Amino acid sequence: MDLFEYQARDVFEKHGVPVLGGIVATTPAEARAAAERLGGGTVVVKAQVKTGGRGKAGGVKLAHSPEEAEARAAEILGMDIKGHTVHRVMIAEGAKIAEEYYFSVLLDRSERRYLAMASVEGGMEIEQLAVERPEALARVAVDPVTGIDEAKAQEIVQAAGFAADVADEVADVIRKLWTVYASEDATLVEVNPLVRTEDGAIVALDGKVTLDANADFRHPDHAALEDKEAADPLEAKAKALGLNYVKLDGEVGIIGNGAGLVMSTLDVVAYAGEQHGVGPANFLDIGGGANAEVMANGLHVILGDEQVKSVFVNVFGGITACDEVADGIVKALEILGDEATKPLVVRLDGNNVVEGRRILDEANHPLVTMVDTMDDAAAKAAELAK
Ligand code: GDP
Ligand code: MN
Repeated sequence: MDLFEYQARDVFEKHGVPVLGGIVATTPAEARAAAERLGGGTVVVKAQVKTGGRGKAGGVKLAHSPEEAEARAAEILGMDIKGHTVHRVMIAEGAKIAEEYYFSVLLDRSERRYLAMASVEGGMEIEQLAVERPEALARVAVDPVTGIDEAKAQEIVQAAGFAADVADEVADVIRKLWTVYASEDATLVEVNPLVRTEDGAIVALDGKVTLDANADFRHPDHAALEDKEAADPLEAKAKALGLNYVKLDGEVGIIGNGAGLVMSTLDVVAYAGEQHGVGPANFLDIGGGANAEVMANGLHVILGDEQVKSVFVNVFGGITACDEVADGIVKALEILGDEATKPLVVRLDGNNVVEGRRILDEANHPLVTMVDTMDDAAAKAAELAK
């Protein structure tokens, strides 16, 4: 999960990273009030969207009075930045910038460790710097066990060539940013620019933080950071029901047991759908021990997708045998009643398949078609979705 800048600012503050005051506003009037609360002096009005390059796009503007803050907020709110509509701005205390630096720490999957990057030439697009003058961007490997201790922080500031008079303070801020990274279970913490102000303070003026959703269980407080407006309503409903569901853009709803089986089901449906101009509508893995209630919840979510024209239920009976799954499908259709309106193609195979197919045959539900193989079932589901 990516955080908004104002959320990153709050997280930084919590861990002692030096930041400036910042208040979120959703209207020009709120922006004016926020600027007043920050002392009535110079502030920066910053678009809160989850994309970089806001400055270049005109989404970061200085304002020298609360009236100006209101005017700048009126310009920025509603603006489109790289496909993101600006619903909020952050009114941030203005800084007198002497120098702009760059720092980030991220997960380096291929090397199975972390990577810290730092530069005394921050501010501009770092991707460009990395390509044009790679020597100006220091890259320092970080051992996950030791993390960024004092010695590692010194190594980073030396590698980046920070001047002696700021090196120790920058190293101290880097260690605090490491605390953010490690204790919040982040996969990215990036500060661009990290600045030296005219009076010599080192301050994080921008913040980009990605939190590892796999660690959510360790951080009940992270749930509050979720951007509920941006979430797909079907995905939100599925999440509330505890389902592993991802909305896609096709017409064939898909339910399977096991992530690998569902992934390959997406492939065969995409392939079979080509000639009909249809494709998979979603990923949904109902897991190994799926009972009737889980099956009903899965169907409920998929049938709630207006784009869906048919549903392919692809189950391989393992520990949960086919007869239990067949029972689950029959009961799920009972639970759903009139809500079940779209044709279901069911392919059952594996443990106790004969009994499973017998149960579905006997139920003889008008919406259900049984097909023996995965390819044929995909073809049938695609044809029905046409
Ligand atoms: P980004 O373009 O999305 O990365 O947004 P940033 O938060 O990095 O802001 C872009 C630029 O605006 C920075 O590189 C700074 O040069 C400038 N900026 C941001 N905050 C301040 C501030 O408080 N004072 C001044 N003078 N400039 C600022
Ligand atoms: Mn930035």
